Amino acid sequence: MPQLSIHNPATGAVINQVPADDAQSVATKARAARAAQPAWAARPIADRRACIAKFAAAVVAQLDALAAVMTAETGKPITMARNELKGLPSRLDFFLDQSASAVATETLFDDAALSEQIEHVPLGVVANISAWNYPWFVGCNVIIPALLTGNAVLYKPSEYAAMTGLEIGRLLHEAGVPRDVFVVLVGGGEVGAALLEQDIDGLFFTGSHATGARIAQALGPRLIKMQLELGGKDPTYVCDDADPQAAAASLADGAMYNTGQGCCSVERIYVHEKIHDAFVEAFLKTVKGFAVGDPTRDDTYIGAITRAPQLAVFDAQVHDAKAKGANVLCGGERLPGPGNWYPPTVVSGVNHTMELMREESFGPLVGIQKVANDDEAIRLMNDTRYGLTAGVYTPDESRARALLAQVHAGTAYWNCCDRVSPRLPWSGVGDSGVGLTLSTYGIQTFTRPKAWHLRRA
Ligand code: NAD
Repeated sequence: MPQLSIHNPATGAVINQVPADDAQSVATKARAARAAQPAWAARPIADRRACIAKFAAAVVAQLDALAAVMTAETGKPITMARNELKGLPSRLDFFLDQSASAVATETLFDDAALSEQIEHVPLGVVANISAWNYPWFVGCNVIIPALLTGNAVLYKPSEYAAMTGLEIGRLLHEAGVPRDVFVVLVGGGEVGAALLEQDIDGLFFTGSHATGARIAQALGPRLIKMQLELGGKDPTYVCDDADPQAAAASLADGAMYNTGQGCCSVERIYVHEKIHDAFVEAFLKTVKGFAVGDPTRDDTYIGAITRAPQLAVFDAQVHDAKAKGANVLCGGERLPGPGNWYPPTVVSGVNHTMELMREESFGPLVGIQKVANDDEAIRLMNDTRYGLTAGVYTPDESRARALLAQVHAGTAYWNCCDRVSPRLPWSGVGDSGVGLTLSTYGIQTFTRPKAWHLRRA
């Protein structure tokens, strides 16, 4: 049986070997899921809810141990690992509260002769190929509503968060979800590719645009439901009437939290020329206060870079920006190992000829560009192939609404950033993907509407 080596990105050490899947085991598990799904869907939704409620309680009870696993394999600072797990129950509660009503049969017309109804039928067997940066959040956004609505789930966690994926499986099985209804597949891209070849009714992917595009190409002719939650190059505009200190404190956190490894991390900041210098000074002061180092320490803010190859992306973006005249105000060079380390990096004097302002960094790097007015800010914010989130900082709500109405993005933030709510849909436009998770739409998306025409003869 193949093995997957788990590395600790903070030390470079191999910390575990876990049994991995291959094409044959993926096919066997997919067949078992197909056979098990109808009985799961036939159970009353109250039964499925009871399993998920048990799972939620177990996550809370085992929070510290689960956080330690996540930190060991991803390099995520332990406080942020605990925060992710502390944030999970409210997300699970949303799904538990809303799942029955979101997929209840709807009667649109009903008289003595005719009834017209919509039934929300589970898709069947769905595959979830996932990312490592918020493995509990991005995993559960799919897994939990998919299970609650009666689907079987073939879940391939990222190879960089495989131990967390196995923990999610262990806890779901202990909570009563049958082993063939929730199945964890361990391995890298080749296991993901093998999963795409199985008899599945839907594919829910979280990851990079490059992988998402490859998956879309592979699955296109199959005509099955496909959702792709991909990357971003998320912009924020700080208006001339904003408080530069408050905006800087909020945006420094939005750019650097989770070591900048967030799909909705702030990667581009446009600041009105009137307050640009005050903003940059305050931003730098906050960033220089972030403690970099051992992710197991409670006071660490910047942990390790999870994927070593991403360091070369940072090097190239900084090199390109410098060569084109940008100023690196802090950071900008790898930190010594062992492990994968890069400091918080703030670059000003940037423009859109630079890779740093065009391609996702997915790390602790941010570009700050001075703008002359609102029109220039909007033009630059929209000058991207991505469209996940965008924000505006100003005390004036109507100004913020007018500006954000012009921005091409799935999510609009006024005076906040890097924020996800279970009540609101999470979706991207352009190269940030298709489909959505979260909100009641993110429950219904695991079903298909079946139309019933019932004539009472
Ligand atoms: P990735 O694309 O490298 O990998 C994602 C998953 O795809 C992994 O499980 C990987 O094993 C699998 N995979 C790789 N090649 C495959 C193939 N050929 N066929 C099938 N599966 C394959 O992305 P990552 O490094 O894990 O995650 C980082 C990316 O995810 C960033 O771009 C980030 O913005 C994005 N992301 C988006 C969201 C969102 O909600 N939009 C959330 C988190 C992360």
